[in-house]
Amino acid sequence: MQNDVARDTTADDLLGAVEIGRQSGLRYIYAGNLPGQIGQWEDTRCPHCNETLIERYGYLIKHYRLTPDGHCPKCATAIPGRWSASFEGQITSRPFSPRSARLLTIR
Ligand SMILES: [Zn+2]
Repeated sequence: MQNDVARDTTADDLLGAVEIGRQSGLRYIYAGNLPGQIGQWEDTRCPHCNETLIERYGYLIKHYRLTPDGHCPKCATAIPGRWSASFEGQITSRPFSPRSARLLTIR
């Protein structure tokens, strides 16, 4: 639309996108960049048991609960991704850089 005014993305915009993703069957939805405004959608959860695996506030990783081989510690579901075998200082105010860590790929 030509009369639309550019505006910042709101939490409601992100939560609307989350719902579209959920209805489409996405298992790992991350709605970031509005720290503290989108509830659990900053976190990574197990698609099988809903355990919080990585809890975030913006770029800050508050808790990291994957097993050393990239599984959910509660139900042992393999979580696809590139995970560090141990917590290697990902708690930072800066974005996590995969190049700075030794990572394990789970498929
Ligand atoms: Zn689980």
